[in-house]
Amino acid sequence: VKRKERSVKEYVEGVLNNDRTILAQAITLVESNAPKHMDIAQQVLNELLPHVGKSIRIGITGVPGAGKSTFIEAFGTFLCEQGHRVAVLAVDPSSSLTGGSILGDKTRMESLARHPRAFIRPSPSGGALGGVHRKTRETMMLCEAAGYDVILVETVGVGQSEFVVRGMVDFFLMLVLTGAGDDLQGIKRGIMELTDAVVINKADRDNKPKALAAQKEYNQILHYLRPATPGWETKAYTCSALLGEGIEEIWNVIQKFVETTKQSGVFDMRRRHQQKDWIYSMIKDYLETSFFSHPAVKEKLPVIENNVISGTQSVTSAVRELIKIYESRS
Ligand code: GDP
Repeated sequence: VKRKERSVKEYVEGVLNNDRTILAQAITLVESNAPKHMDIAQQVLNELLPHVGKSIRIGITGVPGAGKSTFIEAFGTFLCEQGHRVAVLAVDPSSSLTGGSILGDKTRMESLARHPRAFIRPSPSGGALGGVHRKTRETMMLCEAAGYDVILVETVGVGQSEFVVRGMVDFFLMLVLTGAGDDLQGIKRGIMELTDAVVINKADRDNKPKALAAQKEYNQILHYLRPATPGWETKAYTCSALLGEGIEEIWNVIQKFVETTKQSGVFDMRRRHQQKDWIYSMIKDYLETSFFSHPAVKEKLPVIENNVISGTQSVTSAVRELIKIYESRS
């Protein structure tokens, strides 16, 4: 289906009026890597710039099965009922590796998706190079301009995605299950140092005593870790996303966090740093895309790959050759 080409003005006005169809189309536009679309997208984003930045950005991570979609459904619905407008975005690490998607392929958050105050952007399918997350910040800007005041960015605990999401949100929350002891090994510890709250989900029925024990254990460990946010003590909480218990408390914690960090200046400072870091990640993304989509590089790459694999060319000389090709023809 050929997409209707809209003018910059149509996109800008549509987004500002929270026309969901146009908002969705504007997101598709910023996700596009076609130079023509990128130009329009940048004009649209520039016009919307005065209207962005006023939301609370919350990152949510957890292993598959931790209850992320159940939690977001309960939490998002609660916020909508409080009068907030909630946008849900996903950073899906699998799309860049396999072309598939962990987050996107099941029918998720059905009742939140139908809520008039919520907007759920399904996980994009991802290009050959992945890196879909690099568009998430722009998508976030569009949602803010459309008036969403709480942005939830969901990710799965795989690889780099947690660091990526931490770099674009104000508050980072990790959903875990009971069994704190095993979870605290290896990389988990590093991830814990990114989080502003550890939420032990499924604290219901027979599982409740175990969840409370895990909360204690987590709190003991968190006490010795470096806090993710200066002046904020990361603590463990329990909730049942399924029963909607503990959801309100988590929102209170987040509000307290925003109040505290805005007062200390940490909130604004983090956002300024994030903007600065964005410059560098965008340059890297741009160069990567530009390099791998270069026709001469694309043509030569399989040959050089073979040379390296068969042992007739060293990796260094292969890379230098490719870069030379790229630089001479671009
Ligand atoms: P995700 O993979 O992290 O998005 O996890 P889901 O939200 O899909 O949840 C995985 C499973 O756990 C589903 O069967 C949910 O119904 C169940 N679940 C999620 N939250 C809770 C909870 O608070 N209590 C209980 N008992 N089950 C839950």
